[in-house]
Amino acid sequence: MKKDRGLLFVLSGPSGVGKGTIMKEIRQQETNLKYSISMTTRQPREGEIDGVHYHFTEKEKFQEMIENNKLLEWAEFVGNYYGTPIDYVTETLDKGDDVILEIEVQGALQVKKNYPEAIFIFLMPPSLSELRNRIVGRGTEPEDIINNRLSIAREEIEMMSLYDYVVENDKVELACERIKAISIAEHCRRDRL
Ligand code: 5GP
Repeated sequence: MKKDRGLLFVLSGPSGVGKGTIMKEIRQQETNLKYSISMTTRQPREGEIDGVHYHFTEKEKFQEMIENNKLLEWAEFVGNYYGTPIDYVTETLDKGDDVILEIEVQGALQVKKNYPEAIFIFLMPPSLSELRNRIVGRGTEPEDIINNRLSIAREEIEMMSLYDYVVENDKVELACERIKAISIAEHCRRDRL
């Protein structure tokens, strides 16, 4: 039973909770979830490839995308801009494939407003101290940025009630299994038949 239009999944949650790791794992597996590559003005981290991890871009180009309504959502996060190019998402959904976005909470709220039929999944850290360990362990950010990310994380966790599903990221494999199970369950919903 193939639906005409694909489903849009939004994976969100605090920075450092492991959204990137989960998405990397899901992208490597054979699933029907197509990953939307975000655009960002942040500098690439070591090992990150343009067009694979992000579309890295200048502020001017990002601004142009906003003005031309080419972003489904966007947000400023610790001094950089991040956004979802709209064309890839609509073209993929129109083809009947599912799309998954991996975005922070402000962006997820915009999608909720503009695309309420999307399915919202909140990735939850086992605890705030574990979240700090993960951000520090990544070793890519100075102390003030880490503290900034953590204070945003506290606010983001309070937004959990707006989501359809909460997935704890205690173990990467388990969290991936839960997300894939959600996608299967969503296709079995009676109101989608
Ligand atoms: P990072 O700099 O660690 O790659 O990402 C910082 C935050 O931006 C993460 O929470 C990540 O999920 C989020 N992010 C990545 N792409 C997008 C996007 O397209 N839109 C929004 N709103 N957030 C994004």
